Amino acid sequence: MKLDISALRYLTSEDWRVLQAVEQGSKNHELVPTPLIQQIAGLRGGSGVHKCISALAKVGLIAKVKNAKCRLAEFQRCRAQILITCFSSDDGYRLTYGGLDYLALNTHRKASAIYSLGNQIGVGKESDIYITASPDGRQLVLKLHRLGRISFRTVKANRDYLRKRSTGSWMYLSRLAAQKEHAFMRILYREGFPVPEPVAWSRHTVVMEFIDSFPLRMIESIPDPGKLYGELMDMVVELAKRGLIHGDFNEFNILIKEKTVNGKIRLEPIMIDFPQTVSTNHANAQMYFDRDVACVKRYFERRFKYTSDEPGPFLADALKDADPGRRLDVEVEASGFSKKMAKELEQYVEVVGGDQTESDDASVLGHGDAVDEDDEDDEDVQEEKGTEHSERETGDEDAPRISQVDDPDL
Ligand code: ADP
Ligand code: MG
Repeated sequence: MKLDISALRYLTSEDWRVLQAVEQGSKNHELVPTPLIQQIAGLRGGSGVHKCISALAKVGLIAKVKNAKCRLAEFQRCRAQILITCFSSDDGYRLTYGGLDYLALNTHRKASAIYSLGNQIGVGKESDIYITASPDGRQLVLKLHRLGRISFRTVKANRDYLRKRSTGSWMYLSRLAAQKEHAFMRILYREGFPVPEPVAWSRHTVVMEFIDSFPLRMIESIPDPGKLYGELMDMVVELAKRGLIHGDFNEFNILIKEKTVNGKIRLEPIMIDFPQTVSTNHANAQMYFDRDVACVKRYFERRFKYTSDEPGPFLADALKDADPGRRLDVEVEASGFSKKMAKELEQYVEVVGGDQTESDDASVLGHGDAVDEDDEDDEDVQEEKGTEHSERETGDEDAPRISQVDDPDL
């Protein structure tokens, strides 16, 4: 899904309130009836709200949904007061991924995390990566998690799990992935692990330091593969000593940065992509640890014809040296990413797998064969024709100033 921010500057402060109201209403409703939107937005005068709804629907930030199939679910969930609104209204709306993108961007803009948006630099299996810049011109990366867009055809097991989920629940999982990623990166960065500096997190997005690098996957040859191999294995062991296993440690998620030290070029590995990270207390910790190790081993053998003489590393050895008082898994949980959230995300990851499940003929930009199966075009979703933005008054001093630029150097 392309991130098109052209409508951003035309949204009025009322539009933002209505968009936020649809988001809030979506937490308990698959479709949010107009009276409920009005109630949450707290805007007086029905026609104003209708105008905003039309404007937002026109640019695809919310979508009108034929509500018949949702009625029963709403009936079961609604409290009495809301029930009346559900039944007295014919139309309902849901937030689209575009709407969620806008809300997140607006939050980042207000927090001065992002000032401008540049080119897309990565298409992960389930994320989009953009270059952005902070108000002081620092290059950053915006990662938008897009769980659920993977092609069902590429998923071997449990297709039903994927099919039966609604857009709202994909958004929820995408939020969880972003929250988890940010929580882990924050702690890992603070502890001196080689990860990009996390800058901000909102909804399904994370803003982080841009690493001027290439994924290991794109590197043809290296002068001393044994050295890099050793460093990568040390990273796996150091993580485990602090109670963590990356869970998707592979050539796509290891970025290689070139650094010049005393006139010599040094290759510095940086790890990214943490939604699959697990605790060493996890029931399958052994399997995840061994898989991370095996992935790097296999890749070095295949690509660099390098095989280490040393066996391992082994999880049991790493745990022997671990200091129970310095466990980062415990700290992440305490930071708000609960066991329950971890479980929900894990269920999804178990079905879909990580980057290592992807095809070998990956493209340069991305590396998966993901098909955008976003259901924005579902038959039960209708675009509502509303007023053109160009005809509307904007006059919102709080309007976002994010501009889209094509220059990769911003
Ligand atoms: P996914 O979860 O979809 O696999 P990743 O976080 O692995 O997403 O990112 C996908 C690609 O985007 C990476 O392989 C890398 O090329 C690029 N990328 C991600 N984060 C950064 C970053 N902080 N700096 C530079 N490039 C990045
Ligand atoms: Mg990745």
